[in-house]
Amino acid sequence: MTEALYLDETGDAKFEATVERVAGDRVVLDRTLFYPEGGGQPSDTGVLEADGETWNVTAVRKKDTVYHTVDRTPPEKGTTVTGRIDWERRYAHMRYHTAQHLLSAVLLDEYDAQTTGNQLYADRARIDCAYERFSDEEFAHIESVMNDRIGEGLEVRWYEMERDEAESALDPERTRIHLLPDSIREVRIVEIEECDRTACAGTHVENTDEIGEFRITGRETKGSDEERLKFVLE
Ligand SMILES: [Zn+2]
Repeated sequence: MTEALYLDETGDAKFEATVERVAGDRVVLDRTLFYPEGGGQPSDTGVLEADGETWNVTAVRKKDTVYHTVDRTPPEKGTTVTGRIDWERRYAHMRYHTAQHLLSAVLLDEYDAQTTGNQLYADRARIDCAYERFSDEEFAHIESVMNDRIGEGLEVRWYEMERDEAESALDPERTRIHLLPDSIREVRIVEIEECDRTACAGTHVENTDEIGEFRITGRETKGSDEERLKFVLE
């Protein structure tokens, strides 16, 4: 199983690794900083370099392990490569992902509205939540609470926790651990100081003051009891 450097070292853009396996146009490394698509967060893009050659990494997927799709004949098994992720894109994903956690917490705290889905990009994101329909005043209130919490500079940290402990100690409405397969015995908790603790395997910034200004850009009413909110960070 590939060592998931992206779960710990979210300040780094460069890493060294060895090619463990080649499968068609996909490469398996012993360790990687490339985030594989999942949890509403797109995969990282970037390059692998070895001996003066460069391969573009166009997609990253996690199945039994992490597969990096490259744009031409992959480096051979055993090759030592330098990987570089597109940091601007990744950092934007980290900001949007952290904003999404904060927004899920605000929606729950202020309106008892559970998050039912989310998708983020490098320049926008959306969240689905169980709520009938927000008024314009409520939108203004959500924006103001979000920007207050962002401005407070709350610390964000992540750590592993035994599933049983997490299930008994944490608020199930926030963690949604029950949605994970039974086989997963250890969960990764992402905690925003005094606000939120959620089970999540994505990447996040270390402080809410890195998020930027939060603004709602639109909505879709999805049936009678679900709203989709669209937002940007400025
Ligand atoms: Zn997350």
